[in-house]
Amino acid sequence: MLLALLAFNIVGSFAHRGTQPAVLPYTVFRQQVESGNVAAISTAGTHVSGTMKHPILWPPGAKTKDQRSYSAFVTVLPPFPDPSLLPMLLAHNVTVTSAGSGNPWVVDVIITALPVLLIVGVLVYLGRRMQQQQGSVFGFGKSRARVHTNTETSVTFKDVAGEDEAKNSLQDIVDFLRDPRPFQVLGARIPKGILLVGPPGTGKTLLARAVAGEAGCAFYSAAATEFVEMFVGVGASRMRDLFERAKASPPAIVFLDELDAVGRRRGAAAVPGNEEREQTLNQLLGELDGFEPTKGVIVLAATNRPDVLDPALLRPGRFDRQVMVELPDRSGRESILRIHTRQIPLAPDVDLGVVARGTVGFSGADLANLVNEAAIAAAHRRTTQVCMEDFGSAQDRIVMGGLTGMRMGEDERRVVAYHETGHALAAILSPAADPIRKVSIVPRGRSLGATQQIALADHHNYSRTYLFTRLVVLMGGHAAEELVFHEGTTGAEDDLRQATALARQMVARWGMSPEVGLLALELPQAPAAPFGMARNYGEVTADRIDQETARLISEAHAHAAELLRAHRAALDRIADALLREEVLALPALTALLGQTASTRPMSGPAPTTRCEDLRGRCVLQGGGY
Ligand code: ADP
Ligand code: MG
Ligand code: ZN
Repeated sequence: MLLALLAFNIVGSFAHRGTQPAVLPYTVFRQQVESGNVAAISTAGTHVSGTMKHPILWPPGAKTKDQRSYSAFVTVLPPFPDPSLLPMLLAHNVTVTSAGSGNPWVVDVIITALPVLLIVGVLVYLGRRMQQQQGSVFGFGKSRARVHTNTETSVTFKDVAGEDEAKNSLQDIVDFLRDPRPFQVLGARIPKGILLVGPPGTGKTLLARAVAGEAGCAFYSAAATEFVEMFVGVGASRMRDLFERAKASPPAIVFLDELDAVGRRRGAAAVPGNEEREQTLNQLLGELDGFEPTKGVIVLAATNRPDVLDPALLRPGRFDRQVMVELPDRSGRESILRIHTRQIPLAPDVDLGVVARGTVGFSGADLANLVNEAAIAAAHRRTTQVCMEDFGSAQDRIVMGGLTGMRMGEDERRVVAYHETGHALAAILSPAADPIRKVSIVPRGRSLGATQQIALADHHNYSRTYLFTRLVVLMGGHAAEELVFHEGTTGAEDDLRQATALARQMVARWGMSPEVGLLALELPQAPAAPFGMARNYGEVTADRIDQETARLISEAHAHAAELLRAHRAALDRIADALLREEVLALPALTALLGQTASTRPMSGPAPTTRCEDLRGRCVLQGGGY
């Protein structure tokens, strides 16, 4: 379009002259004026067209067939001003007329407006693109909440297992939504907002949907991230819209998933995009205040980071009831496995109780994944039933990563075999340690070998003895390498990292070092500590924590080394067997050890501490060489 217009402009300025004009360089034009040969010119911008008194031959000195005689010409003024031109034109009696551009006025207007039009066009185009990304330009503020009405929400409490406590505290809400009258008669205040708190994958989202399913009411759900937009104010108006829609059709549940995305403490840091989030949060606070739960609308929200939420959200009258959704215990895991294997043909040898016992620390989502991986493993075997072995390999895959098919050299395999045997033997020889499930030197994921322990029972509380034993088992790998090869390798990296973190917490969090004392100096390691949270102890204490951490670890290392030295023959036997077999399960290990490891003294009552960080999988990975 641009090109066409320009061509029109040039053609239009001289086409009316009938004969073709010569296109002269400016200097030639000046010479022609000076020699008095120019009769008249007309200017339009920098464009000059004119007529000669006597025709000139142009171009000069060219072959005659190209040369023509012209009595009209055009030229272009130079971009720098030439003040001598006008006096010269006057001196030679040239008639000068200045027309506009010589174009119809519409063309002029278009040419002037062109840059502006282009800019506007680009803006409109960008706006369109954004509109495609976020609904309509003018519907910016419309919430994109997904609405499920009772017919669609087929999830009920029956689909959620192992969360009886949470279900109990949500039962009130279900009853209220089903029939609010008894509550209204008694004037009972039903909480407006309920916050589901718990680690990822424990079924918070599932529970919220189940509440709606149980109550048979409308369910407006939106992930809080959907409110965080580039434009200030959009999130807030979406929030308003969401609540308006819910209030228009009671009874209803408004569900805000991953609440921490908008609900973070305000004014904590000057992070870009903060203002938008704050406005959205303010809007949410306003909405929470602005409706009466007696009208039949209840707000549910879920988060795994309640610690970062703005205190204003947790005030009475807002999210004033918190429901803990914890990792499931053994029987919870078993019933979750039951739910997820409903559609799966199981071989007779599958004992879900055993699977549940071996999956300490798995969340509901992990268990669902485990069942799926087991079914995939069975499909690979081309059978029609999932057997116990499939669960085993699925678990290995989830906990330790997939098989890499990497081949290690013989020397490397020996180091890895001794390293893993060191972990295993340290665990078998320590009465307080969790029993070994199996040891393997098959490379998986990022690890070259692995030692798996299983907890006999779910721990909620850990004694110093138990934790120190864990340090010993962690150090067992390195200690074995040192004992046999007289030096350690990089394979101990992950062990050392885990051990350091654990020892540090024992010292600074759980008061397990007499040198530091019974002080809780450090918080559970949060992924991002809130801003402005300074260390609450001085340099001397900091030094002492470092020293005590190091001391605990070297003590544990010495202990492990001693155990292994005293059982050197067993260490060699097991490592050899491991090199041959690649994987050894507990029975094989105890047979090789030549003693019954099950005769363990029960550990007596010991000082205990709550330790949620340790509720993870007990895997010692000898990986990442
Ligand atoms: P969260 O919201 O807590 O991160 P989800 O509710 O999204 O976890 O859970 C993801 C999936 O894991 C669910 O869809 C379900 O299949 C499974 N799941 C999680 N917890 C449970 C549970 N307690 N009972 C049954 N299935 C569960
Ligand atoms: Mg969720
Ligand atoms: Zn290791």
